Amino acid sequence: MPTLAKAYVATSPTAPLQPGTVERREPGEFEVQIAIKFTGICHSDIHTARGDWASVKYPVVVGHEIAGVVEAVGAKVTRYAMGDRVGVGCFVDSCRDCVNCRAGEEQHCLVGSVSTYNSVGRDGLPTAGGYSTSIVVDENYVLGIPDGISLHAAAPLLCAGITMYSPLRNWNAGPGKRVAIIGMGGLGHMGVKIAAAIGAEVTVLSQSLKKQEDALGLGAQHYYATSDPATFVVLAGHFDLIINTVSADIDVDQYLSLLALDGTMVLVGLPSKPLSQRAWSLVASRRNLAGSKMGGIRQTQEMLNFCAVRGLGAEVEVIPASKINDAYERVLASDVRYRFVVDAGTF
Ligand code: NAP
Ligand code: ZN
Ligand code: ZN
Repeated sequence: MPTLAKAYVATSPTAPLQPGTVERREPGEFEVQIAIKFTGICHSDIHTARGDWASVKYPVVVGHEIAGVVEAVGAKVTRYAMGDRVGVGCFVDSCRDCVNCRAGEEQHCLVGSVSTYNSVGRDGLPTAGGYSTSIVVDENYVLGIPDGISLHAAAPLLCAGITMYSPLRNWNAGPGKRVAIIGMGGLGHMGVKIAAAIGAEVTVLSQSLKKQEDALGLGAQHYYATSDPATFVVLAGHFDLIINTVSADIDVDQYLSLLALDGTMVLVGLPSKPLSQRAWSLVASRRNLAGSKMGGIRQTQEMLNFCAVRGLGAEVEVIPASKINDAYERVLASDVRYRFVVDAGTF
């Protein structure tokens, strides 16, 4: 029998999110039903709820940083059992057969992975995310949360954590590598923690000096304000890897000038407007401009295990559901230290 879960719902790009319900199917043979305990507020939730990106189908229940406990399993589930601590990230299914799925890069499924929200599942029904009290997901798209991380600190790892871990690993950040993180928000602060844990020399490039003490406390060695033009003089040609987490328009050329020979700037932030940049910024010093999208299931599990062993979780402010709309405004004002996480018991 389907069940009704409590939820917080966006009904239009302009209306505040409001309490509601969402129907959850009975778990299929290979599915688990998860009692959601905590859900992180990712900036992508705000982009979606507010219609910044194309094709949002309202009403929508967003949320893709989900941590909870298995409360029911289908007859053929082998990976998880009742009571297991588990997580769900940005996608809940993919074709499983294309070259990218077979390579464990399900987020790049050639048929199109099924997003945790604002997508259509195999059952033909719209997917609804983590701003709710339960969710039903195929066991192959569920992650195990190791005992070493509390569920509220683990939730943001399911998007922010993997979105930073993946490019840091793929572009070989580590000892002897100079890594810069632009923007110290939800993604950025996890980038600092993970890059420091894998031994890179980490620099934060933030709009102001307000977060300097925090950044150094999280493992950054250096911190510069991008509002100070001297930053771009002092750091010219300095970095092997720059990861940009900013969702607003930035001057890409200015940041490319901070890359050393063969350095790479990876875009993970997703502004709604197109970026522009000069060819010369890349031609000079043979630089690379790249992008990165979350990470596959295998790498996400690797990241969770890594974070548990290294004692890494997100810095969170746990809020009740009634504060979600206020939290959105604070995220938009860069006033989050460093991830809001909703207590699902309050939906
Ligand atoms: P967030 O918590 O709002 O952090 C973004 C940070 O960017 C802010 O804290 C701020 O840091 C900086 N910033 C904000 N406005 C700025 C401006 N006008 N100019 C320069 N810097 C500015 O957001 P998030 O949840 O980390 O997400 C960041 C972006 O990544 C969003 O666009 C989101 O949709 C996208 N995203 C992408 C992926 C992916 O797979 N590629 C996954 C998740 C999210 P400072 O105060 O330090 O400057
Ligand atoms: Zn996200
Ligand atoms: Zn596929």
